Amino acid sequence: MKIVMLGVKGSGKGTYASRLSPLLGIPHISTGDIFRENIAKKTELGKMVEETLKAGKFVSDELTIKIIKERLDEPDCEKGFILDGFPRTPKQAEGLDKIENIDFVIFLDVLEDVIVRRISTRITCKKCKTIYNSANLKPKKEGVCDKCGGELYQRDDDKPEIARKRIEEDEKNLKPLLDYYRSKGILKVIKCANFDDPPEIYVNKILEIVGVKK
Ligand SMILES: [Zn+2]
Repeated sequence: MKIVMLGVKGSGKGTYASRLSPLLGIPHISTGDIFRENIAKKTELGKMVEETLKAGKFVSDELTIKIIKERLDEPDCEKGFILDGFPRTPKQAEGLDKIENIDFVIFLDVLEDVIVRRISTRITCKKCKTIYNSANLKPKKEGVCDKCGGELYQRDDDKPEIARKRIEEDEKNLKPLLDYYRSKGILKVIKCANFDDPPEIYVNKILEIVGVKK
């Protein structure tokens, strides 16, 4: 089963993908992780990515597709995969269509207020960067990291007004991609409007869409 997860940053797609992966027995592939792995292993493609990022540029569609293709050719992807963070543009989506037949594209349509609340309650450890949430993933002692005792703080880009701008920017960028998949008839939309819903609710909805019973 080949799945693409779409959603703005903070929509929870990474969380859902990582929970779905063991349930479906297919790997969760995040573009960010592949980039980091290739850079760490100093592969040919990794070196190219590193140079691009060092120059402050975006990794091109061509290079991204090459790296994804290499990853999808690995044996653990034989039964399928869940892609997270790719494709980002219709051009990348076309590139993906040339190498794989995607079964489902799942778009997490999360109410902006829910994402802003999720992001603006996020607190990060200054030392080890572990992320907590003052609403539903609290540290044992307020303001102190459970793991290393470091000080917890709110990152500037997690502040509500900055988060809102970023979400709107993300939504604008996502639109052509949603149109692309909608026109192909494989786009499934999951609406999330409640801050307090546990992830299981959405994980189960996705399982239902892809036709897997718990
Ligand atoms: Zn820490």
